[in-house]
Amino acid sequence: MTIPFLSRLDPEATELWRGLLELALGEPVTLGPPDDRGAVEIAVVANPPPGQLATLPNLKFIQSAWAGIDGLMADPALPRHVALARLIDPTLAAQMAEAVAAHVLALHRQAPAYAAQQARGLWRKLPQPPTTGRPVGLLGYGEMGRACGKALTALGFPVSRWTRSSGDLGELLARSEIVVNLLPLTPETRGILGQATFARMRPGAAIINVGRGGHLAEADLIPALESGQLGHAVLDVFETEPLPADHPFWRHPGITITPHAAAITDPASGALRAAENIARFRAGQPVTGLVSFATGY
Ligand code: NAP
Repeated sequence: MTIPFLSRLDPEATELWRGLLELALGEPVTLGPPDDRGAVEIAVVANPPPGQLATLPNLKFIQSAWAGIDGLMADPALPRHVALARLIDPTLAAQMAEAVAAHVLALHRQAPAYAAQQARGLWRKLPQPPTTGRPVGLLGYGEMGRACGKALTALGFPVSRWTRSSGDLGELLARSEIVVNLLPLTPETRGILGQATFARMRPGAAIINVGRGGHLAEADLIPALESGQLGHAVLDVFETEPLPADHPFWRHPGITITPHAAAITDPASGALRAAENIARFRAGQPVTGLVSFATGY
């Protein structure tokens, strides 16, 4: 049986993944589809060329090398009768928790305001509440959200959460001083960080978007910052990546930018997790990260 790695990563990254998968699986892994496409039942993908999966007639299981599968779901040719799993890797959730805790602490300790004061040579202490006085709201409480919730709770922040199955969005927005987006990008969640949501938040509250760029209605952000409706925005993900050099977000003092760096899949760990999941699939056991085509995540 042949397992291909299907990807549009650069050649070096693609070869690294292929080699690590081969090592973890203990069997050959091809770059791209093999000549005998009918022999492929399992494929590992990282941003594959659109339509490529549809050329494998006997495919039964797709393992994504990434946690987010919104790119795959956007391919109209994605075979929806084939089981699809996104990557579940605890090292990824740990990285996300670290990044979110760092951004929340920076906002809590008023890093943007002190940076502005430093630029003016201004020595002035700002009032500093304790973490227990800074409610944080998490949109989404899945693999990433749970790890972030744990880290923030350990630091003393009161944490509330909203998911598809629990929590009240209005209540969360009304009480939180910092709102962190950890939702998957689906038709229901696209544009959720927009004017209608900002209007329900506390005046001057901050947002942190580490979900996907499509969650933010980009045109609504600068007006909300300039009117004081929002105090600050930390953005790790964007509608167009890399963020174009002339994008106004780069130079806005109310915006902190990181280059989609909150949680990056480690190929060595990712290949091991992918191989474990493939072994589960072959053994007829439940796989981790099985995607529901009904909910889109
Ligand atoms: P996940 O395990 O699937 O969790 C998703 C959470 O969102 C669940 O709690 C789910 O609710 C909730 N949800 C889904 N649709 C909803 C809706 N319509 N309304 C309310 N809640 C909804 O996903 P994850 O692995 O934690 O990933 C979360 C996000 O992080 C994704 O956007 C992913 O792409 C992104 N991510 C970003 C980076 C980065 O470097 N920036 C790295 C990795 C992942 P239920 O609990 O009720 O199902």
